[in-house]
Amino acid sequence: MKIIINGIHANLRFSAAHMIPEHESCGCIHGHSYHVDVQLEGQRSGKFGFVVDFKEVKSIVRTICKKLDHKVLIPLESPLIEFKSVKNSVEFSIDGKEYKLPLQDCVLLPLPSTSAEDLSIYFVDKLWEKLQEKGADVSVVQICVNEGIGQGAFYSRNRNCENY
Ligand SMILES: [Zn+2]
Repeated sequence: MKIIINGIHANLRFSAAHMIPEHESCGCIHGHSYHVDVQLEGQRSGKFGFVVDFKEVKSIVRTICKKLDHKVLIPLESPLIEFKSVKNSVEFSIDGKEYKLPLQDCVLLPLPSTSAEDLSIYFVDKLWEKLQEKGADVSVVQICVNEGIGQGAFYSRNRNCENY
């Protein structure tokens, strides 16, 4: 059975700034109001016959949203960003443009990019990990990270690691 959580209605949201290095328009720092839709598949179990308690899933995803909220998202594994310092401030350059941001304004992510595509993988992996820790018997985790209303990237991970 599948459970579905709508990010707008369930308040799985965050606002953040990012840039897509060397992209014509998205290369400048800009922001989005993101919302995160979740779908989980698994066997019903336990006293209540839940796949996973909605409350538990929302709590995990909300914690991730909170970490990203009102921050500048920085992809540490970007081949297009040259990092100079990551201490009290985050200093880097992109194609000759120099940046220096206070560390507390940033979230450093182990990702090649902060596109909706890469953020959806990030959310799926984090949620998967937390559900495993809690012993939830889930066979598929799917996340859509929406950059505002009308566009998002959907990523799916299943137990057999056939990701798409
Ligand atoms: Zn953007």
